[in-house]
Amino acid sequence: MAILPSSSLLSQRKLIYPSSIFAYSSHIRFRLGFQIMSSTSKSEPKSVSSSTIYQVPGLDSHEMDSIAEKTFERYSSKTVKRNGKGISIVWYRNDLRVLDNEALFKAWVSSEAILPVYCIDPRLFETTYCFGFPKTGALRAQFIIECLADLKKNLMKKGLDLLIQRGKPEDILPSLAKAFGAHTVYAHKETCSEELQVERLVTRGLRGVVLSPAQGNSTSSSSTHNPKLELIWGSTMYHLDDLPISISSLPDVYTQFRKSVEAKCAIRGCIRLPKSLGPAPSIDDWGHVPSIEQLGLQSEKATKGMRFLGGETAALSRVSEYFWKKDSLKVYKETRNGMLGPDYSTKFSPWLASGSLSPRFIYEEVKRYEKERLANDSTYWVLFELIWRDYFRFLSIKYGNSIFHLGGPRKAERGWSQEQKLFESWRNGCTGYPLIDANMKELSATGFMSNRGRQIVCSFLVRDMGIDWRMGAEWFETCLLDYDPCSNYGNWTYGAGVGNDPREDRYFSIPKQAQTYDPEGEYVAYWLPELLALPRDKRNFPGKSYIEQVVPLKFGNTNRHHNQSVGRRSKSGGRQFQGHRR
Ligand code: FAD
Repeated sequence: MAILPSSSLLSQRKLIYPSSIFAYSSHIRFRLGFQIMSSTSKSEPKSVSSSTIYQVPGLDSHEMDSIAEKTFERYSSKTVKRNGKGISIVWYRNDLRVLDNEALFKAWVSSEAILPVYCIDPRLFETTYCFGFPKTGALRAQFIIECLADLKKNLMKKGLDLLIQRGKPEDILPSLAKAFGAHTVYAHKETCSEELQVERLVTRGLRGVVLSPAQGNSTSSSSTHNPKLELIWGSTMYHLDDLPISISSLPDVYTQFRKSVEAKCAIRGCIRLPKSLGPAPSIDDWGHVPSIEQLGLQSEKATKGMRFLGGETAALSRVSEYFWKKDSLKVYKETRNGMLGPDYSTKFSPWLASGSLSPRFIYEEVKRYEKERLANDSTYWVLFELIWRDYFRFLSIKYGNSIFHLGGPRKAERGWSQEQKLFESWRNGCTGYPLIDANMKELSATGFMSNRGRQIVCSFLVRDMGIDWRMGAEWFETCLLDYDPCSNYGNWTYGAGVGNDPREDRYFSIPKQAQTYDPEGEYVAYWLPELLALPRDKRNFPGKSYIEQVVPLKFGNTNRHHNQSVGRRSKSGGRQFQGHRR
């Protein structure tokens, strides 16, 4: 999400509570002994020790390096030609990859030397817009650090390096363009207000830099000129320019969007780069990958649950592991609603959000798998989900800042509470509902939560507690490794019933969800070991053996027998949602 809102935005995104009220509380720590499990172990264990750690991907570094090397090899081209002059800059943002990176490719084609740059923008470490949570939590910061270290390594293998600078892109990039006489800064285009504002400021800064005629590229005129910012679309599977509909007429119903792109739009092939991208400009000090402490944060390592490794090498390895090594793709549709362990779903999202993984690469791998192994509903369903991701990104252009507003794109008017105590019980996983508490503890401890869990905790916060959905969305913004403003706020507005689709107004019944997705209480007992002693069918419904429930459920109480019907309709018109999402 954005850092520098426009003045009109400021007036609309009101600061309702002083941020100090919602001061960040330290994450709950588990001090149990633990055992590291590679996620390559045969299948999801039926019963996992409450101290198991899963590394994602569960491959050793040698195996991962070999997968990345082979993939780069497969995607390298001998025929692409370089025809530019001078120096161009690649401004890395949320596209921390080499493979299928069009900004990198265009920078290479249009120059004789490329300078790749990453700016550690201090605004990313400030606080969230309304409620003052840390904008980037320690776990995501650690993931980004790993992405940067890996990007630097991979760029060096290609004859380049990554210049890492602390400061605002609008200060750093113009001064680098001036010092190196760079004619163009290439970067990937973003869609939300804070990122767009940085793009405007960079453009403005570059306008103040005057280059001599000799510092141009092959097409520049003979007079002095300014370096320019060239923004490239590259975050989605379907390209913005290929959409069969204009953004302003983007359908408000996902299915209509999906059917339209599937019928009328082709997915572009991944960009192929030459083996070497050098030379790099001569620089004495390329800067170093910061430590977490240098970012003003304290090191937090997942001590149970999943531990994701940042970077493109890990991203490519996870695709290889999930599709080819474990063959999990063929059952994705049946397993994707799980909550425990690394392999019920792809876990691609943290790498997609940081841009270490290209959605077009995933598409090509799905197609290769379908050709070489099998094609079924599951192989298609990964693409179906990636179209959701695309859809939320395109919606963020159509609806602009309304995705961050209380009334959402629908401008719905509803009464919301901002009761701090209730919110904190949700955030800290102390609501008295094991399914909510386990999910919130997983989020705090690992930076990840399953899609099923996200929908359940979102519904609980907004429907059962009646809490302002933006508080939940901002807490997710702090914690999620895969935080992405479009997907996060898009999903939250859907969950809160203020999204663009008027039909999306769902209530997730906790008893029903627990019964369907955690019938043995394995998941809750993993995150709440105090429940392990209870019979399996009681773990989600522990009654007095667990902490008191902070609010009653809007539709049915877990203390009553959990087989009761939950099929009533909401007074507010919201539908009880029991089956699969969407
Ligand atoms: P898989 O099930 O394996 O799906 C494959 C990919 O499809 C995902 O990696 C993701 O890129 C995409 N995808 C799947 N479901 C969705 C969805 N509902 N919306 C958008 N893309 C989807 N996802 C994020 O990437 N960033 C967020 O900040 C984010 N916030 C969310 C907040 C809420 C309240 C909810 C309900 C969902 C949110 N999601 C978000 C979507 C989804 O939960 C995650 O993408 C998914 O759980 C990631 O796990 P996976 O990679 O194993 O997904």
